[in-house]
Amino acid sequence: MDTKQLPLRKCVACGQMVPKDGLFRVVKTADGIQLDITCKAQGRGAYVCKNKECIDMAVKRKSFNRSLRQAVPTEVFDNLYMELENDR
Ligand SMILES: [Zn+2]
Repeated sequence: MDTKQLPLRKCVACGQMVPKDGLFRVVKTADGIQLDITCKAQGRGAYVCKNKECIDMAVKRKSFNRSLRQAVPTEVFDNLYMELENDR
């Protein structure tokens, strides 16, 4: 398997470099912070692995707040968990 073509991004929770398709993107836009399903929204983005452990850790440690320099609304995390369910 060759994954070299996929750009790597750093997960805010575990700190590992992961191919983009293994990550959820959270983006800071003019409208606030939101989950970016399409990965096409403009703005500063932060990434988390598509697994419960990393999302849990990001919530607990407020990793997104640090990375985006702004408090992340709880709806964003609700959406992350929802997408995780859908992704199975
Ligand atoms: Zn991770």
